[in-house]
Amino acid sequence: MATELKTFTDSQFIGKPVLADIEFIPHLEKINDFAATNGLKIFVTSSARPWGVPVGGAIVSPAKMSNHLIGHAIDMNIQIGGKLYTSNELGDFNSLPPPIKAFITTIRNHPVLRWGGDFGDPVHIDDGLNLHNPNLWKDKFPIIQSELTGLTQPGIRAVNSPRLLFLTTPLMKGDDIKVVQEKLIGKGFDLGITGADGFFGQATANAVIKFQDQEDLDPVDGIVGDKTKKALGL
Ligand SMILES: [Zn+2]
Repeated sequence: MATELKTFTDSQFIGKPVLADIEFIPHLEKINDFAATNGLKIFVTSSARPWGVPVGGAIVSPAKMSNHLIGHAIDMNIQIGGKLYTSNELGDFNSLPPPIKAFITTIRNHPVLRWGGDFGDPVHIDDGLNLHNPNLWKDKFPIIQSELTGLTQPGIRAVNSPRLLFLTTPLMKGDDIKVVQEKLIGKGFDLGITGADGFFGQATANAVIKFQDQEDLDPVDGIVGDKTKKALGL
């Protein structure tokens, strides 16, 4: 078993950065392929989730062994032709435009992937690990949860921590974020009234995107990794 929390980005993924178990990444790559084939974008609203933290706006309460808790699930809206298809539209399969139907059908026909619309949750995709291998789910759960906690607890990350910094729910916190914010402010970016508070919130994400764009960094994704840190002079 390899269990490790990773970030995932790819050509068709927009919205919130995806956090996933390393063993779910090949499935996310497949989902990206299916989306590319059908010319649509996956607008992610949620991926790996800390246990017991309520999700804003969600109607469906997490199942006891939710695949979100081990980083094997995403919640998404689908964007095509400038229109965003959310829970209401995705729940009415027959009314969906053909490319979205084709995308969902490919997910349904995949030997492992599941579309949540088949169990009342049309924004959800996972690999059903909780059902077909509950013992592996139980092995992964404490590892992914401790990594998620490590990501979000205040002050536990040093200034030179190698982790990626980006917008999450709950917000990432730490001294490594504070030094990035101080550099951004030093370069004239506005972080709002909170300033360099060590929380990676929306204003910080917006400033990072502007900075990356200004510096011609690739990709412009609002995620602070080695390249962005170097460009900031860290
Ligand atoms: Zn879900």
